[in-house]
Amino acid sequence: MTTANTFDLIVIGAGSGGIAASRRAASHGAKVLLIEGTRVGGTCVLRGCIPKKLMMYASEMSGVFSEASAFGWTEVSTQFDIARWTQAKDHELNRLEGVYRQMLSNSGVQTLLAHARITGKHTVEADGQTYRAERILIATGGAPSTDGIPGLEQAWTSDDVLQLNALPKSLLVIGAGYIAVEFASILARLGVHVSMGYRADLPLRGFDEDLRAQAAQALESLGVKLHAGMRAKALSKDSDGFSLRLEDGGVLRADAVLNATGRKPNTWGLGLESVDIRTDASGAIPVDADSRTTAPGIWAIGDVTNRINLTPVAIAEGRAFADTEFSGRHIQASHANVASAVFCSPRSPPSGSRKRRPWSAGRRTSM
Ligand code: NDP
Repeated sequence: MTTANTFDLIVIGAGSGGIAASRRAASHGAKVLLIEGTRVGGTCVLRGCIPKKLMMYASEMSGVFSEASAFGWTEVSTQFDIARWTQAKDHELNRLEGVYRQMLSNSGVQTLLAHARITGKHTVEADGQTYRAERILIATGGAPSTDGIPGLEQAWTSDDVLQLNALPKSLLVIGAGYIAVEFASILARLGVHVSMGYRADLPLRGFDEDLRAQAAQALESLGVKLHAGMRAKALSKDSDGFSLRLEDGGVLRADAVLNATGRKPNTWGLGLESVDIRTDASGAIPVDADSRTTAPGIWAIGDVTNRINLTPVAIAEGRAFADTEFSGRHIQASHANVASAVFCSPRSPPSGSRKRRPWSAGRRTSM
């Protein structure tokens, strides 16, 4: 093997965690190779937080336009074109990907676009070549899960909603976690008839009870129809759209369905068997508090470890690994007291009358 193919660290996956770990390790003088199968940026930048916020900003503008005449504007005639939004969003994501690539290059990190497969404790195969490193870091993230309900693989995922060229008339959202609440808010504001089916009595299981009740009210104030306590049996599709059959014999119908039933760790084709790493019941790579896997010389961070699946957590785990291994300072990422935000819109239901009057800004609390 040539020295050109030998590194101090190989990172697999150029999402938030993998990029942060690579740059931090390089800043300590490590020779780093970052291998990514598709594009640089990962879920948060390319398929999650960033495009979601761009869509949320677009959806919140509808309220401004509808109230503008009460504030002295005449003739505010508007129409939302999702295809134009998608084009503008793609343009912005290309720009951001370029920024990340430049930052990696400025940090001295070598980037390779190819599928990476671990072939031994210190070896990774990619693009027909073998690369060697003292340490390997797995940061391959997660992907939408379709396991929960038969037929769910036919539904859209949040990735699909962020690529639309036409809006459906009606949408059924299955689930009531982060993605369900955020996308139900956004699409309702964009004029889609949204319904949401979920197993619990309120959305956002595990959150503060008052906030859960407020989120339900906020969604209803947008016209979202809530189906609490839903027990789904199977999802099917025909020429009239989708039908979700329920265990009580009922059926929920919609033109489109969003699968928001959670994500699962992405370990496909990674070659974990070659180093005897066994995933747990959720499909995640088990790690200790230093993000070490059971294989010496191999670490894992971020959603692929299914600890707390949030961007800042993956970044903290990646930097702690790099500092510990390449600067000699032992740093552990703490998983206690991690704040999170669900971008439900409106942030609280309008106080008093459901329709906000001109001049009253309405009380806003953040979620
Ligand atoms: P969540 O884990 O937040 O929510 C999953 C939802 O799906 C829950 O309501 C759950 O119901 C429901 N569900 C799971 N299985 C079934 C089933 N078989 N039938 C019916 N309902 C089911 O996952 P999301 O998909 O919303 O988000 C994925 C990840 O992305 C999260 O880990 C989150 O951290 C991250 N994310 C973070 C954001 C942020 O920070 N703002 C925004 C978007 C995503 P139940 O409660 O009954 O179990």
